[in-house]
Amino acid sequence: MSDPLSVAIVGAGPAGLSAALWLKQLGYAPFVLEAAEAPGGILRFNFLANEWVLGQHGLTGTEMSARFVAHAEAAGIPIACTSSVQRLVPVPNGWRLFLHDGTPRHAAAVIVATGLRYRRPEALATVAGIGQLSASELAYGPFAFRDLDLCQGKTVLIVGGGDNAFENAKMVAELGGCAIILCRSRPRAQRQLHEAVERFADRIRVVMHATLRAVRREAGKLVAQWQTAPDKAEAAAVDRLHVLIGYAPNSEWLATALGDTATALARDEAGYLITDRWGRTPLLRLYAAGDLVERDFPNVVSALASGARAAKAVDIDLSNR
Ligand SMILES: Cc1cc2nc3c(=O)[nH]c(=O)nc-3n(C[C@H](O)[C@H](O)[C@H](O)COP(=O)(O)OP(=O)(O)OC[C@H]3O[C@@H](n4cnc5c(N)ncnc54)[C@H](O)[C@@H]3O)c2cc1C
Repeated sequence: MSDPLSVAIVGAGPAGLSAALWLKQLGYAPFVLEAAEAPGGILRFNFLANEWVLGQHGLTGTEMSARFVAHAEAAGIPIACTSSVQRLVPVPNGWRLFLHDGTPRHAAAVIVATGLRYRRPEALATVAGIGQLSASELAYGPFAFRDLDLCQGKTVLIVGGGDNAFENAKMVAELGGCAIILCRSRPRAQRQLHEAVERFADRIRVVMHATLRAVRREAGKLVAQWQTAPDKAEAAAVDRLHVLIGYAPNSEWLATALGDTATALARDEAGYLITDRWGRTPLLRLYAAGDLVERDFPNVVSALASGARAAKAVDIDLSNR
């Protein structure tokens, strides 16, 4: 009997781990490469109890991701952390991967599941004074949820108009604080969150078409200034600033690793990979799964499912080779 074929999975979030588990069950030898110091994906930084994923009720995202990792490890799937792919070279029987330390690996197929990253406050570089704020004054992405205790009875300025911004404002209000949400364009938060924010109308103010311009310290507070029109500016004294301005797909590394071959890859204008419905990219035996391909509705359930689909596609394609 021949050795099982190796399949590389890049990214150890829910999608990558799900793909690895399915491949293992289908008789392959998957190995997972993870750039971060620990596996589990962005879900590790969801500090809230889950209400959405069936069968995982009450677990925080951190706990859920630990379960996913434990399952993959129990199945004997090797997960190498602080490990990234520098070059990805197509060879006749699959791909040759060169890792960050130059180590070469061979894989019959590669599944890319490198997810999204939060846009950091650096994206607001034109806001005067933002670079001077300390970690106790400014939080972004998941850390705006982790540090909620610091918001009790405080006023928080939240920059962003999506689910995270509205949910964050609601939680600040529940803690007895007040929130001002600055939305640059039409808010995209789901209906339930709009309704929740409306219920706290005495504590949450939503400012539309607002662009944050400057933040400065004054008398123990932060004074934030924003514009809602070229000739219309406003300011407010707040205690903290939360930046929740969305995500960007982790796909640039792939373009670099593929070199000239990357021209065959399909990406949309935001950098999300475009695949067929099985996760196949236009490059032979290169697949993608999870948030990296899911622009409209990124979530744990679809990440697990798309990892499974990509694994099945690998099996179909390699069985027909
Ligand atoms: C605060 C928060 C709350 C959320 N709430 C919910 C919720 O209530 N319900 C829900 O369903 N979903 C929720 N989500 C979304 C959910 O976590 C994601 O949809 C899911 O984690 C996506 O899985 P993924 O595997 O595609 O990507 P990720 O989980 O992002 O995993 C990608 C992995 O790839 C790694 N990586 C990136 N680049 C490289 C590289 N070059 N080389 C190697 N590895 C790399 C990353 O470090 C990461 O570990 C939440 C997310 C956050 C952060």
